Amino acid sequence: MQFDLIIKGGEVVDPGAGYSGRLDVAIKRNRIAAVDRNIPADAAPRVIDATGQYVTPGLVDLHTHVYHNVTFWGVSADPIAARSGVTTWLDVGSSGAFNFLGFRQFIAEPAAARIYALLNISTIGLTAQTGELANLDYCDVDLCCKLIDLNRDLLLGVKVRIDKNTTRGQGIEPLRRARAAADRCELPIMTHIGYGPPTLPEVLEFMRPGDILTHCFTGGDMRIVDDNGRLLEDVKRIWDAGVVMDIGHGGGSFSFKTAQAMIDAGYQPDVISSDIHQASINGPMFDLPTCLSKFLALGMSLPDVIYTATARPAAVMGMQNEVGTLKPGALADVALFKMAEGDFTFYDVFMNPYKGTQLLHNTLTLLNGRELPRVPSEPPAPWIELSQAQQSLIQNRQRPSDYCC
Ligand SMILES: [Zn+2]
Repeated sequence: MQFDLIIKGGEVVDPGAGYSGRLDVAIKRNRIAAVDRNIPADAAPRVIDATGQYVTPGLVDLHTHVYHNVTFWGVSADPIAARSGVTTWLDVGSSGAFNFLGFRQFIAEPAAARIYALLNISTIGLTAQTGELANLDYCDVDLCCKLIDLNRDLLLGVKVRIDKNTTRGQGIEPLRRARAAADRCELPIMTHIGYGPPTLPEVLEFMRPGDILTHCFTGGDMRIVDDNGRLLEDVKRIWDAGVVMDIGHGGGSFSFKTAQAMIDAGYQPDVISSDIHQASINGPMFDLPTCLSKFLALGMSLPDVIYTATARPAAVMGMQNEVGTLKPGALADVALFKMAEGDFTFYDVFMNPYKGTQLLHNTLTLLNGRELPRVPSEPPAPWIELSQAQQSLIQNRQRPSDYCC
């Protein structure tokens, strides 16, 4: 037969490739073979009926932590991939030079999900909750570059978390070293911001076009808006120059107040990522489709939201022809979503509520043209205690999985 699988009758949303509307998607082996109206059902042995659902490229999550059972933050990617539509995962800094080879061997290579990484400038990565930059002996530029050079198939850049807890008085020096490593390897850095010191202007000095500023809609004192909700001039300048503004919602890094100010002023984030980890997976972040639904509530369109979690992050990773797209020839990563309609209350990390009417819910995820099996998620790590807020979200059935099919 001409194809192996056809997804029929769905509403395709792939703004990166220019597809929208009722289209069929045909897969041959592990690649997208065709996207067209009315591909005959008898052209493949298996047909998935996607009537009433949205069909998107497999989502690309630019900020995740999946060094499970080794680091404080790590979650197991595969069970989440199967129920969220996220097929490509960028782990950002969970590993450093001393533990990246374990990440490669035990996480990235065995996983069904596509896993890439940024190497932490700290040789110990995110083994512990924080403090990884407090000892400058751990910020070893030479070793960082050596590991990157040996693992360029998986390592796409350098990660550095700059806030008061990670740096513990070392100031901007860890970022200076991350910059030096990235320049030497000719790769971008992703810089995390939150609560200083250092200050945001000190961080911005080191950001270059192609770099990523993550937690860009933080409510912390390094936030990108002034007290009146206006975008800071220095931030506008680097954004215009090509620094990528990435959400990285996580457990402490997304404020509806900042987001509302930005969206109202016409600024949409470049990338919506989850920062999924042990402390955010049980709410109020939950998963990437929930993050995307928050931006629908804030007024972004569905195509814009999908773009920020498919084509754009794929381009940031230099993989725009392979993932995050349904263009024929691309890897056959596809996600199906139902849109639940109703009255939903979303929460930011401060548990500020925000009303929405739509919730994206993943129903099927294909990777390399194969359906990922839905399996139970791992329980929280032994060192994780759910907060009162998280417990109340779960008790009050505020998890996305409680709303849907
Ligand atoms: Zn993170």
